[in-house]
Amino acid sequence: MTLPVSTAAAELIARGLTLDGPAARTFPVLNPASGAYIADVADRSADDMRTAITRAKAAFPAWSARTAKARSAILRQWHGLVVQNADVLAEILTLEQGKPLAEARSEILFGANFIEWFAEEAKRVYGDIVPTHAPDKRCLVLKQPVGVVGAITPWNFPSGMITRKVAPALAAGCTIVVKPAEDTPLSALALAVLAADAGLPEDVMTIVTAAQAVEVASVLTASPDVRKLSFTGSTRVGKLLMRQCADTVKKLSLELGGNAPFIVFEDADLDAAVEGALATKFRNAGQTCVSANRIYVQSRVMDAFAHKYGEAIRALAIGDGFETGTQIGPLINAAAVDKVDSLVQDALGKGAVAVLGGGRHARGGNFYAPTILTGVLPDMDIAQAEIFGPVAPLTPFETETEVVALANDTPYGLAAYFWSRDIGRVFRVAEALEYGMVGANEVLTSNEGAPFGGIKESGVGREGSRYGIEDFVEIKYLALGGI
Ligand code: ADP
Repeated sequence: MTLPVSTAAAELIARGLTLDGPAARTFPVLNPASGAYIADVADRSADDMRTAITRAKAAFPAWSARTAKARSAILRQWHGLVVQNADVLAEILTLEQGKPLAEARSEILFGANFIEWFAEEAKRVYGDIVPTHAPDKRCLVLKQPVGVVGAITPWNFPSGMITRKVAPALAAGCTIVVKPAEDTPLSALALAVLAADAGLPEDVMTIVTAAQAVEVASVLTASPDVRKLSFTGSTRVGKLLMRQCADTVKKLSLELGGNAPFIVFEDADLDAAVEGALATKFRNAGQTCVSANRIYVQSRVMDAFAHKYGEAIRALAIGDGFETGTQIGPLINAAAVDKVDSLVQDALGKGAVAVLGGGRHARGGNFYAPTILTGVLPDMDIAQAEIFGPVAPLTPFETETEVVALANDTPYGLAAYFWSRDIGRVFRVAEALEYGMVGANEVLTSNEGAPFGGIKESGVGREGSRYGIEDFVEIKYLALGGI
């Protein structure tokens, strides 16, 4: 069967499929826009995961013993290949994930930026010499790679979420075993092919694809040889993994769900706020953990905001990510559509009104109609749960104090946004919001130089930035006596 992609993309997919040898079992990967079959991918077993960990452990001494400069050189080479193949990688991403091709290409370059950044940071993992407490002693602080890292990644950013974990791990001198999401394993395999082409030694990074996440992931969390787990996904699964990692007291980085408030004050630049709300709500069809989940608008500007926002959403083109001009693709699978729709129907049943959309899209399949709901109340499920779909719930508010309390009234604490031109309010609200990331008149497009991460039940640790590599090193205190 020929795939609806270029020959170069089909070849890279084929190379990925044979990367780790034959598989006893396979599972199919489907195109979310059409439901069409793409490829059969190795369905690795618990034993395969054990083997991957053993090999990653064996590869660790040589990899960590290389100079930072030597590791950096391979990362830079890998970065170059990813950038060079951005178009092809974008095709693979759209094919299995559904996002518009232009967005897929942005993700590839976004992901590549982390490889470049950590290639640079590899050379700047400094220790310390602490002033001595006695004349004949010295106190040194060494930073050493944690060892074998396990990573479990989601389908919404099938390329970027991998490079954001793998690049700092490799830069620090760790080896890593990655279990990508079952919906999007091809992007992970393609990255691994390019890493091998860049000269990354065997077993330093291994991709373990599997249909049954629970079985293989439990090997990763139970293994005493895996010293750190880095996970991006739902809060529910993050909590499970955190519990599983307790027995071996692993270091943890968790990037979990969000319930981002998006607040429009009456002194906001409304056009800019509409543009921001459009970008943060509909990018990746709303399937990002930093998507605006609750839109609070001060009463006096509610009608004006809702009108402009509705007009802007109506103009968005929905379709197959490969179709020219598509701005919103399908959701990832049928279960995702069911989940979004059940939240919408629950809200409608409790008195919310759909001023736009309100159900599945006429295209059928995994397409959901861009939706605006008004009259959403704080206790409706849709205001509590992460929607992960193209649905914008609007709620009016009267005062700053009231909206800050509403915004913080959630167990999540990932991203929050607000729009105001009052400098005093900008500082007050930014400081009062209990979130790891706050965008003031900005929808904080994540980038490699900024620390990405949440507080409360949205996670532990930070990815990207100069803080990102810290999660992959251990601190060792070396006390020197007898001097
Ligand atoms: P989402 O709801 O966005 O799909 P998940 O948390 O379910 O997020 O999935 C993120 C990643 O976690 C995927 O790689 C998935 O295979 C994996 N995963 C899902 N359930 C489990 C589990 N019980 N144990 C380990 N990994 C899991």
